[in-house]
Amino acid sequence: MLINDFKSTQLKVIKILMNSYNKGRLAHAYLFEGEKGTKKKEIAFYLAKLLYCEDSDKPCGKCNNCLRIEHHNHPNVLLIEPEQNTIKKEQIIYLQQEYAKTTLEPGPKVYIIKDIDKMSINAANSILKFIEEPLPDTYTILITDNLQQILSTIISRCQVINFQPLPKNEIVEFLKQNEINNSVAKIVAQLTNDLDIALEIASDELISDIIDLVILITHEILQKREDILIICENSQVNLYNNRKKLEYFLDILLILMGDLKSVDNNNDNIVFDQELIFIKENIHKIKSEKIMFNIDEILKTKINIGYNANTVLLLDHLLINLM
Ligand SMILES: [Zn+2]
Repeated sequence: MLINDFKSTQLKVIKILMNSYNKGRLAHAYLFEGEKGTKKKEIAFYLAKLLYCEDSDKPCGKCNNCLRIEHHNHPNVLLIEPEQNTIKKEQIIYLQQEYAKTTLEPGPKVYIIKDIDKMSINAANSILKFIEEPLPDTYTILITDNLQQILSTIISRCQVINFQPLPKNEIVEFLKQNEINNSVAKIVAQLTNDLDIALEIASDELISDIIDLVILITHEILQKREDILIICENSQVNLYNNRKKLEYFLDILLILMGDLKSVDNNNDNIVFDQELIFIKENIHKIKSEKIMFNIDEILKTKINIGYNANTVLLLDHLLINLM
């Protein structure tokens, strides 16, 4: 069972969908929009189960149809996800072919397309056709973490459902209930909106090592010492051999740089509160522009890592720039 039961974390969304379903007024096209980890895909499948469940208390999650949908085994419920970071034209053609078929099984058809911001313009235009001319009893659910990247022509033809992230303090409390210490919980809560993933990250010993490394590096930056490269090389966290570790490192470093910026602006409400005294004592040694420069550099590195660039080179380049 999921620790993060989306029925409680996305109660508003569930209510909207149930209400439309009960009134027989489900939209033919939905756009599920919200930050990563807000359970959009899970709720898309929940909606499919609602349409197919054989039980009177829908969706039961236990009947044959619910189980087939859960295991991606239902011929009328189709999920399309990016392959190598893009939704390819062939995937859309496949979808169109499926769309044209008469159903293998009686009942509605449900198409779930995840990360539609990763579609090419051509692919997006094809999707637009589906939405504009829906066949009866067909439901398309588009999912995105980046609403601002979606064509307005798509947005205007869908019912947009906003998924709100959990408040950070609820994630922190949840982690603390699971025996994660307060400072780790506060940092990990910034990395994800998903309770399951948050607990997984926080329970990994590695994350404490990465946090310690980020603190060490920030001390070097504040004290204008130039040992960052050596510290990184000698650290037991080998950032060079694992992209996931490197991503966590960059995210956590970004949080601490954001904290420097806050303290620089006389705001003491920071994520790394265990570092507040040290930062306050040393913040005058670094210029505001340098903090902003460092934040920009980290953001650029994060983007470049997404493009499969040489991570060793990228990290060294960043560390040199941070000094
Ligand atoms: Zn069922």
